[in-house]
Amino acid sequence: MERFDVVVIGAGAAGMMCAAEAALRGRRVLVLDHARAPGEKIRISGGGRCNFTNLGVHPSRFLSDNPRFCISALSRYTPADFIALLDSAGIAWRERTLGQLFLEGSARQVVDLLVRRMTEAGAELRLSTPVRDLTPAAPGFRLALDSGEVVADRVVLGTGGKSIPKMGATGYAFDVARRLGLALVEPRAGLVPFTLAPDLLERLSPLAGVSAPARVTAGGTTFEESLLFTHRGLSGPAVLQASSYWREGETVAVDLAPGVDLLARLRAERGRAGRQSPAALLAELLPARLARTLAEGAQAPPRLGDCNDA
Ligand SMILES: Cc1cc2nc3c(=O)[nH]c(=O)nc-3n(C[C@H](O)[C@H](O)[C@H](O)COP(=O)(O)OP(=O)(O)OC[C@H]3O[C@@H](n4cnc5c(N)ncnc54)[C@H](O)[C@@H]3O)c2cc1C
Repeated sequence: MERFDVVVIGAGAAGMMCAAEAALRGRRVLVLDHARAPGEKIRISGGGRCNFTNLGVHPSRFLSDNPRFCISALSRYTPADFIALLDSAGIAWRERTLGQLFLEGSARQVVDLLVRRMTEAGAELRLSTPVRDLTPAAPGFRLALDSGEVVADRVVLGTGGKSIPKMGATGYAFDVARRLGLALVEPRAGLVPFTLAPDLLERLSPLAGVSAPARVTAGGTTFEESLLFTHRGLSGPAVLQASSYWREGETVAVDLAPGVDLLARLRAERGRAGRQSPAALLAELLPARLARTLAEGAQAPPRLGDCNDA
């Protein structure tokens, strides 16, 4: 029977960081993953360029039932620490909008860096290795693998969230926690697109592919970035972020002309250039296809001069 100080289940971003830190502190560490490759979600992150941190990282911006956890975690490991790690490995990065930092090259560089860091510190990585059973065995835990039994003082559940099962995601950590009687916060989807009810979708689906700057508010929190109409509903950075604050039944407010007093503008133009169409005026502020759809949806008369305030 093999013995380890720490067994980490899941070679994702969290598991590999954890394994490296434990190994750097002299622990004997084994990392297990049922997938054939480590860090698959990192590989597809940020459209393949890995949005690895943000200059505006702050505990107040984390959603958690235990906000104090973020305060201590973020004071001990800051964005500057991860930037220094990339710099030390010669991995090029750059800032995009709103303090978002992306790699210049492939996200695979981050996967390789995390694997190298933990294995050079002495952690052992075993891929294609499902855990058949995990039981408490005072002291520590006993793990049944196809190759035999492993005993560990500590087990870290680093198997991530449930999204994208075809990339290896499972609800394993939730199942184990429930079985061991640990309290769980009910998992919810976060950073996800909104699907629309059939009637609204029918009206908006011709806009699929159109993107526009927007201010999206849900649960009292507002994000101002771009919004994307899709075949199923709404997506884009502003919508994805707002989704984490939304609860079933609540209103989502979408302002498609942020910073513009649209009614004042329409009134002024009605007096100045009443012969133009409402869609043409809206198209000065919005993508033309969106302007046309909104004007048609409002059943506006063909000429701005014939429109009333309503
Ligand atoms: C399309 C997309 C784009 C993203 N872009 C970004 C971005 O740019 N920046 C950013 O910060 N975040 C991004 N994210 C989020 C980020 O990828 C995740 O938050 C992060 O990967 C979570 O890390 P993790 O280690 O907790 O879990 P994961 O990365 O999911 O790792 C979990 C590991 O556990 C393994 N596993 C699961 N079940 C078992 C089991 N039963 N036995 C053994 N092993 C198991 C899996 O194979 C996997 O390797 C993105 C996510 C997606 C889906």
